[in-house]
Amino acid sequence: MNIAVFSAKPYDQEYLSRANAALSFSSSSSQPHKLTFHEFSLSAETVQLARGADAVCVFVNDILPSAVLHALHDVGVRAVLLRCAGYNNVDLDAAEKLGLFVANVPSYSPEAVAEFAVALIQTLNRKTHRAYNRVREGNFSLNGLMGRTLCGKTVGVVGTGKIGVALARILRGFGCRLLAFDPFPTDAFRDLGEYVELDRLLAESDFVSLHCPLTASTKHIINGKTLGMMKKGAMLINTSRGALVDTKSVIDALKSQHLGGLALDVYEKEGSLFYQDHSAEIIQDDDFMRLMTFPNVLVCGHQAFFTEEAVTEIAECTMRNLEDFANRVPCKNSLVKQGHVLARRESLPVRI
Ligand code: NAD
Repeated sequence: MNIAVFSAKPYDQEYLSRANAALSFSSSSSQPHKLTFHEFSLSAETVQLARGADAVCVFVNDILPSAVLHALHDVGVRAVLLRCAGYNNVDLDAAEKLGLFVANVPSYSPEAVAEFAVALIQTLNRKTHRAYNRVREGNFSLNGLMGRTLCGKTVGVVGTGKIGVALARILRGFGCRLLAFDPFPTDAFRDLGEYVELDRLLAESDFVSLHCPLTASTKHIINGKTLGMMKKGAMLINTSRGALVDTKSVIDALKSQHLGGLALDVYEKEGSLFYQDHSAEIIQDDDFMRLMTFPNVLVCGHQAFFTEEAVTEIAECTMRNLEDFANRVPCKNSLVKQGHVLARRESLPVRI
């Protein structure tokens, strides 16, 4: 099969090529699939580069609304392989109508993301990012670096799927009290903490960490109203999807000092910024630049997943999904099947 791989960074090329070679070595077909790598993202402008490909392989900031899916179908593409868990960037209804195969990598290392969320919590809380810079300048003053002992604090986990539960397990080790909100509660979290309604979680938590998917119903779940429900001085951590947080409202809450700190691994307009070097440019996103002015804001460029183990599993699972498509056998990671959207798409229609 011919695969056009978009948003393919050097590490994607290395790990996918390795997984492809291993697949052809272990499977009955001795020919590896042909991977064509494009560093740029898939969009209406670049879709023609997929001509001749059987499948496209895409990442979080490749946006596939109906028009792009139709264009892909027109140039002969029949499969969309997501190298990520979230699928808010693909119009699955349109894909279903076109009969396209769409599969994701539902779990590649929930611990990698959960551990990164803990790193963000503690960096923001204990201000080690500021201490690092100070000490390098020969400034050993502790003024302004005071944090709070995490043990005994309440952490609110919004979304207790694989990552939310992995986070809760780690934070139990820190001695935190855990609250969670999820419309689909599980025993895995009940063993670690208490399910409450979102308003109570917001009112009682010292740290709120977001781990629900981005859907029409969760877009801007953190907005002016819900920020107002949060405890004064509480900190917000988002390692899920940027658009869960209304950036303008969060800026207001930081200015009024109601919100005590913000750590983002994802940002609602990250598509035009993340995974590229813009260091020699004038960044035009004023909201993003305003966020950069706060000493209690920490932003990373969507790297919570980025461990050797997770990237290996992403590549291998993507190739397994491709093999299922190529061999026309049922794929357990298919998001659209036989004209029916799968049950695990419990959310409302995508809004892009
Ligand atoms: P998951 O599907 O295992 O869990 C998601 C949970 O969210 C489910 O329990 C679901 O019931 C719950 N949920 C749905 N709607 C909700 C709502 N309105 N309020 C609260 N909870 C709700 O997913 P996961 O593997 O735990 O991943 C969670 C999210 O993390 C993904 O959707 C993805 O966007 C993000 N993610 C980010 C990175 C990164 O590198 N930053 C990496 C992987 C995943």
